[in-house]
Amino acid sequence: MNHNQFKVFINQIPKLDPVQKQQAITSLNQQDNPILNRLAKENIQHSKCIHCDSKRIKKHGKSNGRQRFFCNQCGKSFVCTRGTAFFYQHKPEHWQAYLELMLKRETIRACAEKIGVSTVTAFNWRHRYMQATQHTFEAKLEGIIEVDEMYFRESQKGNKKLTRPARKRGTNASTHGLNNKDWVAVLTAMDRNHHEYDHVLQQVNGTEINNCLGCKIVNESILCSDGQPAYNKICQEHHLHHVVLKHAQPHNTVFHIQNINSYHSYLKQWMLQMHGVASKNLPKYLGWFRMLAWHKYQSFSDDFLTQREKLFEFKLLQVQQHNF
Ligand SMILES: [Zn+2]
Repeated sequence: MNHNQFKVFINQIPKLDPVQKQQAITSLNQQDNPILNRLAKENIQHSKCIHCDSKRIKKHGKSNGRQRFFCNQCGKSFVCTRGTAFFYQHKPEHWQAYLELMLKRETIRACAEKIGVSTVTAFNWRHRYMQATQHTFEAKLEGIIEVDEMYFRESQKGNKKLTRPARKRGTNASTHGLNNKDWVAVLTAMDRNHHEYDHVLQQVNGTEINNCLGCKIVNESILCSDGQPAYNKICQEHHLHHVVLKHAQPHNTVFHIQNINSYHSYLKQWMLQMHGVASKNLPKYLGWFRMLAWHKYQSFSDDFLTQREKLFEFKLLQVQQHNF
């Protein structure tokens, strides 16, 4: 648009009615939406049709500010948000600000107030983003693997019907045992490259640990644990060398479970800031924390990356990995 055309365009603005003004603002915001731009770029790099995997895709205009792609192979089209946590999500102008607030560990209420959306929307967005992180970073653990289980108090928050008598506020839960229903056991494992795996266990026994962790580790690795007998089965099945570390044992420089213990301690502190997580939502929160921890361990530090860059390193913004 040349200078004269732009002048005419600007002079037309006072003639817009309030609804048209809002539409114009939304349209302008969407033109320069960093998340939508990033997703469009990801699709171009990925260059794969979401319907038939063909590489014969081309840009095909925009709908609601979202880049549309057309597949020459199957004749179907799709938008850049397809296959991501942002598919079918409204208000793209607020996505980035919302994610940044989530990174700052703001509460749902604070996010809603600062962004200008309802608390229900803020809650739904949070759970949608967290759900998208559940299956990220599924690299196999190898070498020296530290493993330990941790326990969270069982919570039926948000459930309309409790499956047990209600607890009195302020009462203490019984001490967590292996299969005590008051506690939810989470199996956590981490290798020395900071690949982390976690899984909510229904029961703490050898079969369940072998079933969930077995396919996530490289055979013949070294498993460091506190000696819980439930780890014996996985060690036999996957030919792992089992190093048992008792608390009283002197500090061993190579074989230890200090990394997993400090991960537990950060995770517990972080969970406290979440003001009570329902047990059914525990895997989502574990996924989000795993993603935060992964970025913390990477060589780039907060000093080197801006908030936006940090956001873009997130797998959350990569396409075609989730079924939304
Ligand atoms: Zn196709």
